[in-house]
Amino acid sequence: GAGAGTAETGTAETGAEGVGAEGVGAEGVGAEGVGAEGVGAEGVGLFRTEFLFLDRRQPPSFEEQVAAYAEVFGRVEHVIVRTLDAGTDKPLPFLGLPREQNPALGVRGLRVDRLLPEVLDTQLDAIAAAARQAGAEPWVMAPMVTTVGEASDFARRARARGIARVGVMVEVPAAALRAGRLLQEVDFLSIGTNDLAQYTFAADRQHSALADLLDPRQPALLELIALCAEAGRQAGKPVGVCGEAAGDPLLAPLLVGLGVTSLSMAPVCVPEVREALAALTLDECREQARAALA
Ligand code: PEP
Ligand code: MG
Repeated sequence: GAGAGTAETGTAETGAEGVGAEGVGAEGVGAEGVGAEGVGAEGVGLFRTEFLFLDRRQPPSFEEQVAAYAEVFGRVEHVIVRTLDAGTDKPLPFLGLPREQNPALGVRGLRVDRLLPEVLDTQLDAIAAAARQAGAEPWVMAPMVTTVGEASDFARRARARGIARVGVMVEVPAAALRAGRLLQEVDFLSIGTNDLAQYTFAADRQHSALADLLDPRQPALLELIALCAEAGRQAGKPVGVCGEAAGDPLLAPLLVGLGVTSLSMAPVCVPEVREALAALTLDECREQARAALA
């Protein structure tokens, strides 16, 4: 493994030519590090950097972060790095965040930056240094972005360090509703359907009794995804999905039909998703999406 946390592989860019698996590269970083070679992923769609921070009393140093990121950047050409997604729901002792009554609605993801801006500043410095060291151009995105102001602040700080492609995750309905405006600030969106479903349906994503509400086929969720995809089409900017839904061979065609331009999933899902997409035309995917929305 790369020892730099887990990463999901992106796959199956869905360009105008259609939805087949033609042309997808053979590089990727697997769930345990590097492991997706051979499944034909184009890159890493979600590099969950928080795994580098877990189970520690002190945050990883700048140097340690540079080494971990550079190792991944050196192996895989296209990597989308997500900045630290921790908070009171994924607690890290060294953050020292106060206990909260309702952690899912509290200080998590990019919101940690309100209390501890040095954590993100150091991480962005380390990502930029690792990119220079590896001669790579990673894309960088923030989790749990809610407002345009948060997105523009994040983009400004990332670009000030020379990071060329800056994006935000869409995990909060407020962000999906403002997708067009967000894309005036950033270069791409990546929809985290796990959290977007949780916050759209006001249903804890771990709660098995609420699984029907969290089903990504729920039309309300699909409408928010469609809104983001349409905003991306208008802006000429990529809008991917990096939640679990993207790795489901029954859902992937729907997402493509909604206009999503890339799918990120665990490496183990890539072959089945590719097969599902290769069996359909783009028009058939669009038809599935129309039916699901209806
Ligand atoms: C998501 O919320 O869909 C996502 C990809 O992020 P995580 O599952 O790490 O919260
Ligand atoms: Mg999430």
